[in-house]
Amino acid sequence: MKNSLKKLNSFGVESFCNEIYIIKSYENYLQIKQNLKEKKIIILGGGTNILFKTQNLDYTILKVDIEGIEIIEDYDENIIVSVGAGVNWDDFVSWCVKNNYGGVENLTLIPGNVGSAPIQNIGAYGSEIKDVIYSCEGFYLESSEHKIFNKNECEFEYRSSIFKQKLKNKFLISKVNFRLSKKNHRINTSYKALSDKLIEKGIKDPSISDISTLVKEIRESKLPNYNQLGNAGSFFKNPVLKKKNFEKITNKYSSMPFYKMSENEYKLPAAWLIEKCGFKDICENQVGVYKNQSLVIINKGGATGSDIYNFSQKIKQEVKNKFDILLEEEVNII
Ligand SMILES: Cc1cc2nc3c(=O)[nH]c(=O)nc-3n(C[C@H](O)[C@H](O)[C@H](O)COP(=O)(O)OP(=O)(O)OC[C@H]3O[C@@H](n4cnc5c(N)ncnc54)[C@H](O)[C@@H]3O)c2cc1C
Repeated sequence: MKNSLKKLNSFGVESFCNEIYIIKSYENYLQIKQNLKEKKIIILGGGTNILFKTQNLDYTILKVDIEGIEIIEDYDENIIVSVGAGVNWDDFVSWCVKNNYGGVENLTLIPGNVGSAPIQNIGAYGSEIKDVIYSCEGFYLESSEHKIFNKNECEFEYRSSIFKQKLKNKFLISKVNFRLSKKNHRINTSYKALSDKLIEKGIKDPSISDISTLVKEIRESKLPNYNQLGNAGSFFKNPVLKKKNFEKITNKYSSMPFYKMSENEYKLPAAWLIEKCGFKDICENQVGVYKNQSLVIINKGGATGSDIYNFSQKIKQEVKNKFDILLEEEVNII
């Protein structure tokens, strides 16, 4: 019997897979492993960064539902906390803020689960999860071998890691271990929208709770609720250009915003490129770009995975034609 994935992806597209197994522990995986022989596997968390392009997927889904938050080391200045991959990311952030553990407050309200957060090194408002990750642990699906990846071994990059590259759907993260501050928190207000908000509210010496509250406020005003308007956040990554290519483009488009990452690397806002190609607040076949953030592709209701995919490729082609920049998808397309 085919299993519907409609409620398991934030685009809300209808798609069917062969089987779904809920993984609650490593032992649980060992019990079902014999049923997985020769099968193509997709590991799934909250389904908020995935697009099921085809309706009938010849895949078996492993939905990760490993619970638990446990402090495993407690020092004067910081703690190491071990969190089950199935814990909701924002519930974990709330737990940290409530207990005054610092480091994840800028990542408030990012949808999805803790186990998926290292996959693309989630980031927002000037922070990335790699800044607080101590290690990621889990097991290889094929051999069942358990492994702990220390932070360096995770090969974190902008919206990427070893788990999104060569270990994609091969290694299941079961727990993520974080190092969080207990005092002398390093409050990060480097992101302009956040520092503007602090000025607006007259907050001079923000606590981690203030940061979390303000990030929540900004996100709610800018991003669509995927329960009402299907989406997966930013569809594309912001492109990073070498200095020579960057200068070629700015000579032509002097008003283009950018962020200098290093002497030779410049990040451009993909949303700006998309808008300049005429896609601001555009809709086709129930698929569109979100009015407040052109990097977010939305399902206005009833769109299929292929409608969304085709629309995204049209955007990609227009950006390539106009700017000679090839956008890379941030969303995982199956
Ligand atoms: C409204 C909205 C806003 C967003 N804002 C941001 C943002 O600000 N910053 C940001 O970085 N992202 C953002 N995202 C994207 C998304 O929230 C994150 O990428 C999140 O980490 C995805 O979690 P998930 O559990 O839903 O992952 P899923 O979509 O279920 O999976 C994502 C990928 O991870 C793999 N995977 C999942 N769990 C595991 C596991 N345990 N082991 C191994 N592989 C696994 C899957 O196979 C898939 O390739 C946003 C999404 C939405 C809908």
